[in-house]
Amino acid sequence: MLLSEVGYARPATLEQALGVLADYPGARALAGGQTLVNVMKARAAAPDVLVDLARIPGLKEIELGSDGTLELGAMVTYSELIASAEARARPILGEVCAQIADVQVRNRGTIGGNVCSSDPTNHLPPLFVALGADFTVVGPGGERTVPAHDFFLGVYMTAAGPGELLTKITVPPGRSDGFASVPIGVDGTCIVNAAASVNGGVRVALGCVGATPVVVEPASADAEAVQGAVRDSGIDPPSDVHASSDYRRRLAEVVAARAVEQAGRAS
Ligand SMILES: Cc1cc2nc3c(=O)[nH]c(=O)nc-3n(C[C@H](O)[C@H](O)[C@H](O)COP(=O)(O)OP(=O)(O)OC[C@H]3O[C@@H](n4cnc5c(N)ncnc54)[C@H](O)[C@@H]3O)c2cc1C
Repeated sequence: MLLSEVGYARPATLEQALGVLADYPGARALAGGQTLVNVMKARAAAPDVLVDLARIPGLKEIELGSDGTLELGAMVTYSELIASAEARARPILGEVCAQIADVQVRNRGTIGGNVCSSDPTNHLPPLFVALGADFTVVGPGGERTVPAHDFFLGVYMTAAGPGELLTKITVPPGRSDGFASVPIGVDGTCIVNAAASVNGGVRVALGCVGATPVVVEPASADAEAVQGAVRDSGIDPPSDVHASSDYRRRLAEVVAARAVEQAGRAS
């Protein structure tokens, strides 16, 4: 048997989903299952009940406001985001989702699942931090908004606590964005990645160099200034079979400068 025995609920409303999570403290939300089912197969997680969010109305909507603000439902898949006419208001979103894994993963994996995994090698945490997105979290105590920068608390840990659900990601207007990475292979996991936004000041969010995205705000978009700011940020990346800490530190400078350069071209 691949999976341990597990209960399954497919609630029709957000309230029902929160009710199941409250009734079963060992329950976990199921989005695309691309991470959760794999960790269950590996016996690294054993939820009592899977709460499938697929049928909850509203979680798959993409709305573009008249000022360019985008509201993305947590259950929007990468493929849906790539295909969305509304999401083209912020082209970097589709561009980065198209770099994630392969078509099967992109058809099932959701933007909410990506950020709720808080995997330091994932593409979307640094992207949403650089864009200054806000995350809407709903729980028994009501609804609250968490800035992306405060959402990621550690490896596999987020501000969406037990019994809570991420429902929506709000991306402010802007177009001058960039993303660069060095992946392990084609469509592979990143060794280091960086997202940049130069809508106003220059903001870079580095991925894979710590437990959560690291924000660097260079004084200008000049490549030397960006690389210097990354050097001065004091990052202490992990070493693993793919790259040493020193190599990751140097790559972080390079991908940050590339991301800012792309953002400059997009303005
Ligand atoms: C072969 C392969 C390659 C991959 N490569 C990459 C890659 O290069 N880059 C990348 O970024 N990702 C990669 N991934 C991960 C993939 O993007 C996953 O889809 C994603 O991390 C999780 O999304 P999901 O919708 O499948 O979430 P699930 O696996 O269903 O859930 C993940 C976690 O988030 C929780 N969760 C999900 N939705 C919510 C919610 N709305 N509120 C609260 N908690 C929630 C779940 O309880 C679970 O703990 C890869 C996956 C695979 C299988």
